[in-house]
Amino acid sequence: MSTTPISSQTPIAIHWFRRDFRFDDNVGLYHAVSGEYSVLPIFIFDDNILSELTAKQDRRVDFIHRAINSLKKKLEEKGSSLLVKHGKPLAIWQELVQKYTIKAVFTNRDYEPYAQARDKAVYAFLKDKGIDFTGYKDHVIFEKNEILKKDGTPYSVYSPYARRWRERYEQHPPQIYGDALEENNFVPSPPLAMPTLANLGFEKTDGDFPPPVLQESILPDYKTLRDFPAKPNTSRLSIHFRFGTVSIRKMALMGGALSASWQNELTWRDFYQMIIFHHPRVVTQAFKPKYDHIPWRNDETQFKAWCEGKTGYPLVDAGMRELNETGFMHNRVRMVVASFLTKHLLIDWRWGEAYFAQKLLDFELASNNGGWQWASSSGCDAAPYFRVFNPSSQLAKFDKELVYVKKWIPEYGTPDYPQPIVDHKMARQRAIDTYKQALATWQG
Ligand SMILES: Cc1cc2nc3c(=O)[nH]c(=O)nc-3n(C[C@H](O)[C@H](O)[C@H](O)COP(=O)(O)OP(=O)(O)OC[C@H]3O[C@@H](n4cnc5c(N)ncnc54)[C@H](O)[C@@H]3O)c2cc1C
Repeated sequence: MSTTPISSQTPIAIHWFRRDFRFDDNVGLYHAVSGEYSVLPIFIFDDNILSELTAKQDRRVDFIHRAINSLKKKLEEKGSSLLVKHGKPLAIWQELVQKYTIKAVFTNRDYEPYAQARDKAVYAFLKDKGIDFTGYKDHVIFEKNEILKKDGTPYSVYSPYARRWRERYEQHPPQIYGDALEENNFVPSPPLAMPTLANLGFEKTDGDFPPPVLQESILPDYKTLRDFPAKPNTSRLSIHFRFGTVSIRKMALMGGALSASWQNELTWRDFYQMIIFHHPRVVTQAFKPKYDHIPWRNDETQFKAWCEGKTGYPLVDAGMRELNETGFMHNRVRMVVASFLTKHLLIDWRWGEAYFAQKLLDFELASNNGGWQWASSSGCDAAPYFRVFNPSSQLAKFDKELVYVKKWIPEYGTPDYPQPIVDHKMARQRAIDTYKQALATWQG
């Protein structure tokens, strides 16, 4: 390939990377490079999203920046490049159609409400210019309406959804696509400039991300050990699924062969993506409307203690400190801290959800919202309201030797460790009574 800049007259296709940062088994990209026109891949640092982030050192932005840089370098080794833009997507598209002769645009679908609205606007704009904008399923195994009840409506209960998911998975195992780099159908281009983190208003972080590799050795015991936060038996792939730095299809095939229980977690992920697609109102409202009538206490001092991991309940505090320090929290502990916030402290699940959204490296609106609504009992297939996790029994069951607790709470067992901010027995009963009364008096 020569590396003369593409002229504005050269007809090209564009692949728009969003949460699919890889060349291998990337459905939209594979279709793009298999088409008639050479492909200019692009990425947009979306100002609508970045402007909502408050911390200058945001590991997610750093992760994206590194991932994009790595894609760009690989393209440059092939004599091409990646066009990286910063701004509002529609405005960028208005600029791109002026600059290039775009014949087709490819992307992978995103099911969150903001992304759906953004893509609808871009689709309408491109259509008006006579440019096809095609989305592909890449982020999930089954999407939208692929798993439906017999009456053709979407499921809201997990178990029958999962049964149908599994049947369909067995009938139609995921198809794997090739490596787009090997197709060699990218536009020749000199290396293009890319905004630095500072240009974007951010700073480098100490982000130490898990490798995008499924450690098969964790899977045989996944079912029995997945709930123990001190054990290394979960995959830590969530950040990679979030940003598409690994293929969900490949992982489902690989992991599913060794652990049905692990694959079941990918089904939960699909379930929540399907729920948010069909019920975008869950972003702000309880899935079950009557749960929007719980009179939350919303005590700000207690919320602060929860955020800082100073509630006096060791499993809760260890989890929150793990989150604050690393951006990760083990799933069992996420359930315990979320139950504690919404039930013991009677703080609106949306407060906890927003705090997680700010801190989690793997933050994904659909799974985070689903997890919080599950814990607060307001969700589609949630824990019943009278199920209040006992943080001390959870500790005794899942971190008996206090390995996890001591790792994250160095002052544990010393007078510096706080006393419980709330009495478990009282708080449990208060939660049950409050929920019961609110639900009984709801006039929906
Ligand atoms: C309150 C709460 C908030 C959560 N917020 C998020 C979030 O923002 N982003 C996120 O990816 N997960 C979220 N989860 C789900 C789960 O905690 C994480 O996916 C998991 O801890 C990630 O670790 P892992 O990759 O080692 O998981 P593994 O146990 O190895 O599971 C494999 C993959 O399955 C998916 N998965 C696992 N559990 C769930 C689940 N309960 N729901 C949906 N998908 C699941 C993830 O993609 C995960 O990487 C949340 C759970 C709760 C209770």
